[in-house]
Amino acid sequence: MKLAIAALTDVGRVRPANEDAFVVDASTRLLAVADGMGGHQAGEVASAAALNALQARLAGGQRLDEAIVEANRVVFTRAASDVTLRGMGTTLTAAIYGEDAMLTIGHVGDSRAYLLRNGELRQLTVDHSVVAELVAAGQLSEDEAEADPRRSMITRALGIDAEVEIDLLPVQLVTGDRLLLCSDGLTTMLRDDVIAEMMRNEPEREQAAQSLVEGANGAGGADNITVLIADVVDDDVEIPGAAAPAAPPDSPQP
Ligand code: MN
Repeated sequence: MKLAIAALTDVGRVRPANEDAFVVDASTRLLAVADGMGGHQAGEVASAAALNALQARLAGGQRLDEAIVEANRVVFTRAASDVTLRGMGTTLTAAIYGEDAMLTIGHVGDSRAYLLRNGELRQLTVDHSVVAELVAAGQLSEDEAEADPRRSMITRALGIDAEVEIDLLPVQLVTGDRLLLCSDGLTTMLRDDVIAEMMRNEPEREQAAQSLVEGANGAGGADNITVLIADVVDDDVEIPGAAAPAAPPDSPQP
């Protein structure tokens, strides 16, 4: 089995710049989405620096959790050493695809990983956000959470502290699975049932990614939107363009 991937990032309709970033790297079998935050485009620096560090550490042979710890250190050190970058941070939802179709997800923040299997969409990650914690504690309903003004307040990010707590999730994939990694610019604009319908109804992953971005923009595009769709296909399935993937404009350069 292998993954066929489509990824898109879009500035949205409100923000002046795109502080999201993604990476798809065949050599380290890495897929990742990062949503940076910080004033004066520092968020852009944070998300790109985290993904670059992650990719470099994985290429150097580190495990995913070790590489994320290093990515945290890189962003934290840069933020501490440059006054214009102070306070910057980034979410990270990263996945490594193993030989045995075992996916390992490393996650910090409120970007998300979802799995569409047999037509059902399931959120794999838990948001590290104020609102998600209130829902988990029974102090807020899911419906109330959707309209809560604290929605974008996250409780964990890379670069904020010298230490970071990482969620690690193993997922055994099967042929036909469709994975989605996305930033909150998608999930704050579209409900899960709408995302599920778009994921189910569009077999072409490039088109599905496009539909999700257009859907989020159609709903207001209040934030940067990043979507990465990975279809689990059999080895004999040819993936158009897979031999020479073009570097997306917002992908960090190695
Ligand atoms: Mn965002």
